[in-house]
Amino acid sequence: MPSRGCLISRRQFVASVSQAAIAERLRAQPAAHRTRLILLGTAGGPRPRLTRAAPSQVILVNGAAYVIDCGNGVAGQLVRAGVPLRSLRHIFITHQHSDHTADYGNLLLIAWTSGLQTRVDTWGPAPLEKMTRLFFEMNESDIRTRVADEGRVPLAPLVFSHERRSGGAVMKDGNLTVTCALVEHPPVAPAFAYRFDSADRSIVISGDTKPSEELVRLAHGADVLIHEALFPSAVDRLVAMLPNSAALKRSILSHHTPVEEAGRIAQEAGVKTLVLSHLIPAEDPEVSDEMWLNAARRYFKGRVVLGRDLLEVD
Ligand SMILES: [Zn+2]
Ligand SMILES: [Zn+2]
Repeated sequence: MPSRGCLISRRQFVASVSQAAIAERLRAQPAAHRTRLILLGTAGGPRPRLTRAAPSQVILVNGAAYVIDCGNGVAGQLVRAGVPLRSLRHIFITHQHSDHTADYGNLLLIAWTSGLQTRVDTWGPAPLEKMTRLFFEMNESDIRTRVADEGRVPLAPLVFSHERRSGGAVMKDGNLTVTCALVEHPPVAPAFAYRFDSADRSIVISGDTKPSEELVRLAHGADVLIHEALFPSAVDRLVAMLPNSAALKRSILSHHTPVEEAGRIAQEAGVKTLVLSHLIPAEDPEVSDEMWLNAARRYFKGRVVLGRDLLEVD
C-alpha cells in the first residue's frame, strides 16, 4: 500500500485494485446474455484519467470480439476485462478524433503479439486505410523481427480495412448484423453511430454526436443504447486550466449531447436501457453519480446505467 502522503499513488492503487476485482467478477459470473457487452473506457476526451479510460466498448459473441473505438489503452482494458486479444475479429471506428483512434494500430499490433493469427476487419471513416497502411510501415522493423525471430505469421495480410462514407448496412456474419447512421459531430465528418443486432440482443452505440434524429431512428426499439453524455454546467471547470479554454468550451458545447437530451433521445427511440458513457467531464467530484442519473431520467422512463470502466451491461 502506498504511503498516506502520496495521494495520487493511493488513488491509482485503489483504482487498480477495484478494476482487478471487477475483472475477477466478470470471469466468475456467467453472462445473462449470450451476446455480451463490456464497457472498456467511459471518459470523453483524449487526456488520460485516473479512474476512467478513453471511450471504447467490446461486444462478444461466440468467442469473437467486436471492438468499438480504440482510445488510448484499449488493449490493456480488454485484458482487464478478461477478453483474449487473439479473439479480436472486428474493429469499428465511430469517427476520427484521437480519443477514439489513438490505439487503433496499437490494438492490432498488440493483439498480434498476444497470439492473433486470424483475420481482422476494420470499419470506419477515412483515412482508415491510410492509417492502417502507415501504421504497419511505421512498425515494419518490429513486425519483421518478430516474424523471423518468433515464428509469427505476417500481420498486414490479416487486416482488411473498409472506409465508410454513409449510413446503412455495414457487415453481417453468423453472429451479428451491423448497421450505421451518420450523426452530427462538427467539424468531424463523417461521424457514425453503430447498431449491432444478434440473435438475442440489439445494442446501439452513439459515438460522439450532438442530439441526432438519425440516431433516434437507428436506435428504435433497441435493448441497449450507449449514449455519450455531457454535463453542461461543469464545462467551465473542465476547461479552466487549459490554454485553449475558450475555444475548447465552444467546441465541447457545440458537438456533444447534454445528458438530459440523451435521456430524451432514449425515450423517443423506445430503448429499454440507456447507458451513459463518454462522460464529459469524466472526473468531477462536483458532478455526482446521482446528478448524472437524475438528469438522464428527466425524460427517459426506462433503465439508466451510469457507465464505468469494465462494467458488463446485462
Ligand atoms: Zn470523443
Ligand atoms: Zn469526437
